[in-house]
Amino acid sequence: MEKTLIIFKPDCMEKRCVGEVIRRFESEGFGICDSKMMTLPRDLLREHYAHLIHLPFFGGILDFMSLRPVVLMVFEGENIVERVRELLGPTDSTAAPKGTVRGDLGTDKMRNVVHASDSPENAAAEIERFFS
Ligand code: ADP
Repeated sequence: MEKTLIIFKPDCMEKRCVGEVIRRFESEGFGICDSKMMTLPRDLLREHYAHLIHLPFFGGILDFMSLRPVVLMVFEGENIVERVRELLGPTDSTAAPKGTVRGDLGTDKMRNVVHASDSPENAAAEIERFFS
């Protein structure tokens, strides 16, 4: 059974659509195996978003993601990493098709509802980072 790390981002918390996203994941047959709520420390976020450090919006992401306490969950299911990314749609919410999480609930490129791991290897590293 494959696992993925989900972070319900500050825009999702504010709009109170955590339950709606969980409902979509559960109706795909995915199960919750761990969860917690915390304000994400900037040093952890710097590590998590290290692949974007050279981009002009890097500081903005750290500000946004540390804005308020967020819910983190580990979900499991068959081929879950790829299937969850399909359910989310692309990074830019304004380009995400209707029916996807970001298309239905997202605002823009940054405020896009949910983080989900992009490979099984990154999922393992991210789960270790946020849940160890
Ligand atoms: P994804 O979350 O879809 O895997 P990335 O790893 O490329 O996307 O980016 C991480 C996060 O950084 C995005 O989810 C989004 O919140 C933010 N982000 C990405 N691109 C932009 C951008 N052009 N402008 C503002 N924020 C962005």
